Amino acid sequence: MITDIEPLLIGPNASIADAMTQLNAGALGCLLLTRKGRLLDRVITDGDLRRLLIAGHDMQASLEALSERTSVTAHESTTEDEARSVMEEHQILHLPVVRQDSSLCGLYHLPGLSRPILLSAPHMGEAEQQLVAEAFRDNWIAPVGPHVDGFEKELAETVGAAGAVALSSGTAAIHLALRLLGITRNDRVYCSSLTFVASANPILYEGAEPVFIDSEPESWNMSPAALERALEADRRAGQLPTAVVVVNIYGQSADMEPIVELCDAYGVPVVEDAAESLGATYRNHASGTLGRLGVYSFNGNKIITTSGGGALVGEDLDMLAEARRLSTQARDQASHYQHTVTGYNYRLSNVLAGIGRGQLKALPDRVARRRAIFDRYSEGLGGIDGLDWMPEPDWSYSNRWLSVATFNPQQIGQHPYAIMRQLRTRNIETRPVWKPMHLQPLFKGKDYFPHAEDRSVSDELFLSGLCLPSGTGMTDAQQDSVISAIREVLGQ
Ligand SMILES: *Cc1c(COP(=O)(O)O)cnc(C)c1O
Repeated sequence: MITDIEPLLIGPNASIADAMTQLNAGALGCLLLTRKGRLLDRVITDGDLRRLLIAGHDMQASLEALSERTSVTAHESTTEDEARSVMEEHQILHLPVVRQDSSLCGLYHLPGLSRPILLSAPHMGEAEQQLVAEAFRDNWIAPVGPHVDGFEKELAETVGAAGAVALSSGTAAIHLALRLLGITRNDRVYCSSLTFVASANPILYEGAEPVFIDSEPESWNMSPAALERALEADRRAGQLPTAVVVVNIYGQSADMEPIVELCDAYGVPVVEDAAESLGATYRNHASGTLGRLGVYSFNGNKIITTSGGGALVGEDLDMLAEARRLSTQARDQASHYQHTVTGYNYRLSNVLAGIGRGQLKALPDRVARRRAIFDRYSEGLGGIDGLDWMPEPDWSYSNRWLSVATFNPQQIGQHPYAIMRQLRTRNIETRPVWKPMHLQPLFKGKDYFPHAEDRSVSDELFLSGLCLPSGTGMTDAQQDSVISAIREVLGQ
């Protein structure tokens, strides 16, 4: 908000010539016509002055000639975001701010407002818009249609899986994966602790018992050491899990080789939650294709998006066919409506699949762009003691969905949350690293296996990590302003 409004104030006795001179002296393209006590009459733009002249008033005519108009105003408590949307809605560039007593105290100027820089805003391109238009034109608004089949085929090809099932969300995909693996009440199901809650919620849907496994410091994903201790302890107790949900956070694969080897040795199937890691690879295999079943999400903030959506991929086509059936209310093969098992309404709609096909084409670009954003951060914020980055082991090619930094409070002299708050006042959105599941009230009392007996890596990351704006729609100039804001906040 501009508070120095004195140069913009003008009284009704001033002439058009005076107003033009005063308008030219300022850079905002408006004046504020006021009465005594800074009471606002109306906003004057150069267009208003031009119209007076065209209507035949001469330059010496007073501003009394202006028609009366009630200008839209904001209050002292109006936020920058609210001011922006009011101006956009009314298609105006200037929004005077008035106090409770109606006196003027400031002005919002639309071009002067910076857009908030978000963590990961959806990014829609030409191709998606064309495919959506096509889906509408061909009247394929029906739940299923050619785009769904096309999207499944193209997704499977992209990741090198035998098949894919397009679903309404990544969470739905995890839920179906657990159903396909026969998880039932009180079964133990392992899950990475450092993740978004959607990885673990489906375990609760089935009344099963979640057990959380810590991260290792090399990839921030499931620690093979913790997994081995958990499996060994549960084997001895005669309560081996029925599935392991391995999560690839922030676009990076977990160290799948030792994890899958261990799970094979104990006969436990692996579900790979690759909701955040589409486009990443592990030892040259697409992330999401290394377990028995893999899960992707196309939620609004993910690397590609259908606004909401998900997919299940795998090698076992019978299993995927069953997933497809369960996702459409599990109808038996009969012409009448007959059902034997519980199904869901989990299918992706045809229109959204159309968006997905367009987004899929953009995936290589999006991965390259996210990685370039990460490189720009690590360069721009290099040389700061106590600031480190999410590592990328040599077996990993991350999609760098989010650029994540850790701030050592001792070396930096500030807690990451303090940094986050200061960036928020500069209109920059950052977020802490996922709060681990074993610390969530929802999962209080559930078993947890840390990386080492005396070290919980996910706790360390939660307390030191901050995700930085990483959206592919972000401009270099915006990223530069994030970098300089962080340097400023850190006093570097
Ligand atoms: C986003 C996400 C999900 C859930 O995907 P939705 O499509 O939002 O249901 C699951 N796991 C992880 C790790 C995620 O980031």
